[in-house]
Amino acid sequence: MTTRSETQTTLDHLLTEIEHRNPAQPEFHQAAHEVLETLAPVVAARPEYAEPGLIERLVEPERQVMFRVPWQDDQGRVRVNRGFRVEFNSALGPYKGGLRFHPSVNLGVIKFLGFEQIFKNALTGLGIGGGKGGSDFDPHGRSDAEVMRFCQAFMTELYRHIGEHTDVPAGDIGVGGREIGYLFGQYRRITNRWEAGVLTGKGQGWGGSLIRPEATGYGNVLFAAAMLRERGEDLQGQTAVVSGSGNVAIYTIEKLTALGANAVTCSDSSGYVVDEKGIDLDLLKQIKEVERGRVDAYAERRGASARFVPGGRVWEVPADLALPSATQNELDENDAATLIRNGVKAVSEGANMPTTPEAVHLLQQAGVAFGPGKAANAGGVAVSALEMAQNHARTSWTAARVEEELADIMTSIHTTCHETAERYGTPGDYVTGANIAGFERVADAMLAQGVI
Ligand code: NDP
Repeated sequence: MTTRSETQTTLDHLLTEIEHRNPAQPEFHQAAHEVLETLAPVVAARPEYAEPGLIERLVEPERQVMFRVPWQDDQGRVRVNRGFRVEFNSALGPYKGGLRFHPSVNLGVIKFLGFEQIFKNALTGLGIGGGKGGSDFDPHGRSDAEVMRFCQAFMTELYRHIGEHTDVPAGDIGVGGREIGYLFGQYRRITNRWEAGVLTGKGQGWGGSLIRPEATGYGNVLFAAAMLRERGEDLQGQTAVVSGSGNVAIYTIEKLTALGANAVTCSDSSGYVVDEKGIDLDLLKQIKEVERGRVDAYAERRGASARFVPGGRVWEVPADLALPSATQNELDENDAATLIRNGVKAVSEGANMPTTPEAVHLLQQAGVAFGPGKAANAGGVAVSALEMAQNHARTSWTAARVEEELADIMTSIHTTCHETAERYGTPGDYVTGANIAGFERVADAMLAQGVI
């Protein structure tokens, strides 16, 4: 039997090797560190997990596809972007994970997201493996026709790698209902198949699930509420800061408001808005979902209660709860210190890896309840899997049924993380709980299925 510290030494060697074998992928290194630094207790306790090659296989994607995406802009000029799909692990089911269209996308970013996705998907308890994809295409400022041509060009290569039993993409940053529509249309045209289960996040009239757009934000608020319940509190009357103003942020604000909290901020890459009366969601949706505008327009139209802070970060606004819902590494050590100084009680990640490792450490040290994205934002992919189930049965469920299932899944994820952390001697540490519980499920399936 190896000790925890011997096991940690082995895992540290592996982390060094990961850095050498995957140069210039800092986000992937960060995600691998975050998981492998918490696994020593379970690997030391269960010798089968120390089997040579198991964790080495887990950190190596099963398949990585990179491809050229040529398309024409409205002036007839040919543009060339790069497309990615990383099929990380299919031990539990078809690869499942979103597509991100953002200029910052590169292979390392997609690998970090795909790696996180393995454990997140395992935590849902559903039969889905982990994958992620996207492109360095920037949809901001592009016409609908340009976005359509880009999506068609992207799918013209991607279609060979995906399928309802193989790999099922969905949305992420820069990919919402409009993009999924164009992608699905091109898949149908090329394959001549009505294969609804090949993509999730579809429109409601053609195979989409009710509550899928809301699921990530709603699920994160339910996770935050469960963390607060552990401390004998609820959401009623709490002030919340939310970053981002896209899909996840909007439905986070909607659920917070419905449960009696006051969400006072939103942001985009230009800065943030603080609205002491609480964010007016109709106005925000109009600006972001209909007009595809910037958040400063919100402050201009809202009146005296709101102001726009160019270039600022929402974390400087005093609040009981913080729900980062924009992008990776958006909440650093200084932000964490500010939140703690202002008395924050819980931080729950709607985005993927928004909190830097130093900030996570600081928050946990200060006794702040911290919900890591792979647990807290798993509601989105969970409802995607429910969309696949509805597609398979050629049926559609009511909003009430989907929401009930989402609530059950989020409660179960919270309980699993909480109990696993206790079992391994780190009570209240949801990071360790989520990593170990996700790892156990995937590792057991990989061991049962042999060396592949
Ligand atoms: P959207 O594209 O709908 O919205 C993203 C928001 O974040 C926008 O307000 C955007 O502002 C802002 N943002 C993005 N990148 C940056 C950046 N580099 N700096 C500052 N602001 C930025 O994406 P989603 O809401 O779907 O995704 C948000 C996060 O949630 C991501 O981390 C994603 O991986 C995660 N997530 C999403 C799920 C989903 O179901 N959609 C599921 C689970 C996690 P701007 O327009 O100015 O760029």
